[in-house]
Amino acid sequence: MEQSDEIGALAGAINLMARDLHHTLVSRGYVENIINSMMDMLIVFSPDLSIQVVNRSTLALLGFTEKELLGQSIIEVVGVDFSEMISTNLFRVGFVSNIELNFRCKNGEIIPVLFSASVMRDADRAIQGVVCAARDMTEVKKGEQERARLQAQLIQAQKMETIGTLAGGIAHDFNNILTPILGFSEICRGEVDPKSRACQCLDHVINAAKRAKNLVQQVLTFSRQTEDKRRPLALEQVVNEAVELLRASLPKKVGIRQRTTPGLPLVMADPTQIHQVLMNLGANALQAMPGDDGDLEVDLDQVEADKALAESVSGMKPGTYLRLRVKDSGQGMDAETLKRIFEPFFTTKDIGKGTGLGLSVVHGIVTSHGGYIVVESEVGKGTTFTIYLPAVSTPQTVEEASLYDLSLGQERILLVDDEEIVLLLIGEMLEPLGYRVTPFNTPEEALTAFASEPNAYDLVITDLSMPRKSGLDVARRMKKARPDIPIILLTGYVGTVSREESAAAGIRDFVMKPVVAKDLTMVVRRALSGGESNVMGI
Ligand code: ADP
Ligand code: MG
Repeated sequence: MEQSDEIGALAGAINLMARDLHHTLVSRGYVENIINSMMDMLIVFSPDLSIQVVNRSTLALLGFTEKELLGQSIIEVVGVDFSEMISTNLFRVGFVSNIELNFRCKNGEIIPVLFSASVMRDADRAIQGVVCAARDMTEVKKGEQERARLQAQLIQAQKMETIGTLAGGIAHDFNNILTPILGFSEICRGEVDPKSRACQCLDHVINAAKRAKNLVQQVLTFSRQTEDKRRPLALEQVVNEAVELLRASLPKKVGIRQRTTPGLPLVMADPTQIHQVLMNLGANALQAMPGDDGDLEVDLDQVEADKALAESVSGMKPGTYLRLRVKDSGQGMDAETLKRIFEPFFTTKDIGKGTGLGLSVVHGIVTSHGGYIVVESEVGKGTTFTIYLPAVSTPQTVEEASLYDLSLGQERILLVDDEEIVLLLIGEMLEPLGYRVTPFNTPEEALTAFASEPNAYDLVITDLSMPRKSGLDVARRMKKARPDIPIILLTGYVGTVSREESAAAGIRDFVMKPVVAKDLTMVVRRALSGGESNVMGI
């Protein structure tokens, strides 16, 4: 009985043990299952840093097999750098949470992770190991970078817009200031002996004023507030002109060489903008040759965009292009600089010397003309900018700007501008050519005079912004009285008034302030000869 009891107890004990064992086995499988179902990586390592447990996510993300990881040092395999801070926190405090670390995959790739770990102790509080959980942050990081990029872009766009608004606001006033400076200097220059010192001084004034005008133009182009006047254009004309201008501002020891292949096709382009491209590239080239000696080469030729070229110029479409190369033997650029040169406001020059706008304007102009731009540069050797502009296939007649130069006339011109000095200046510019100019200081006076004798004038020149009435109002009223009267609008910048609006008001052409004699006489002559309107829709 006793014996059977003993056996019974033994059997009971065995049963219990079997149940425990079953539990242990079941629970172990259960825990393993949990660990392996985790999305995050789970790693357990012992106090000597050798890896004891890894889950499936760890293997999948890092690309190792379990065999390659178990028993290895976590530092060596995964590359986890347990800096002093982490070790101190981990082993003294008992845990670290949410720190950013990098894990190294088997293929060498580095993945960013968010890492937490806590120390595991046995019943005697001795450290048994460390349990780590790490979350793959690759996608989150990408998202963050993308957000930062968009943020930067937004800030950039806002900056541009602010400049645009600012430029628009200043341009009008600034041009009004430049108008008499440039205009009267030109008139004076015509009156003095070309060999005199006065003439030289005036040339300096004129050059400086032209630079100021160019600067305003630059900012306006940049803020897209200028009007695009594209037409079939012989590029070599613009290149010649720009090279002449550059030559004038060249230090003595810099040689400038220009080569143009004759008989080139035309491009569809705005001459002012192309001129600006050349002047910006030229200015940079000169600034890159600080020792005041060096060579500047400007080459213009024609190329066919074949496969080879299309491969070296990314995105280039097949076709015929005019290739403009501006090459200097200056200081060149390193790779870091080269990467950023087209960014607005990027400059390596001192304050006052560089605005960082030059190349971003060049880039904007070239791409808006359907062209491409390539830069090659070597530190200490020099830089070459190559611009490709698509050729127009059918040759068209080129407008000869010089046709209207200094054209004489006897027509009667009604002139209205609220600024006394502009009236004086335009009178001085046109009267010597034979035109009879009647100036008015206010739109009201002009309208009254015109209404009483609408046939007493052959042409009207009106300022755009005047107090109480705009030039467009003046134009509309005069057109009512005499629909055939040609009207020219004087404007600080085109951004304020759209082509459609001007066309609807009957404006035939624009003259930009500050007024340059050559432009003015050309536009006046063209308007009087009934030449093609420069404003669409008339
Ligand atoms: P800025 O001339 O006002 O600095 P740009 O946009 O014209 O602005 O040029 C940006 C930068 O590109 C310059 O500051 C200069 O570092 C570099 N760069 C441009 N052209 C040249 C060149 N021909 N040689 C060397 N560096 C150049
Ligand atoms: Mg520049």
